[in-house]
Formats: sequence, structure tokens, C-alpha cells
Amino acid sequence: MLVHVDADSCDSNGLCEQYAPEVFELDSEDVLRVKTDSPEQRHWAAVEQAARACPKFAITVVDTE
Ligand code: SF4
Repeated sequence: MLVHVDADSCDSNGLCEQYAPEVFELDSEDVLRVKTDSPEQRHWAAVEQAARACPKFAITVVDTE
């Protein structure tokens, strides 16, 4: 799995961080950071939930398997 966030679309509401804090994090300036763009398999379900929950459709998930 590869994860990408479109920074231009993201409005820093933090929803994705709530679903998958191991992968998404708002920094001290409220800029979303992707901690790893190729998360471990145990985080995939949470990442997919985060992508579905993002109201800005800013998260792209590519299945690499
Ligand atoms: S859920 Fe979407 S809009 Fe919200 S912080 Fe994450 S990427 Fe940005």
C-alpha cells in the first residue's frame, strides 16, 4: 500500500489522524504529515477508513499487491 495526501485539498481537520495516528499526524502548525507512505499491513484497514472519512477526498491509497 502506498499513501498520498494532496496538501492543496487537505483542510487540516485531523480526521485521518483519529483513524490512523500511526500514519497521519498534524504537526505543530496544523500541517498534515504522512509519517510513512508505505504503512505496515496491520495499519491498512485504518488507512482505508481514514481515506473514506476524509471530507476533502485528499487521501489517495494505492494497492501495491
Ligand atoms: S482527513 Fe483529509 S482533510 Fe482532514 S486532515 Fe486528513 S487529509 Fe486533511
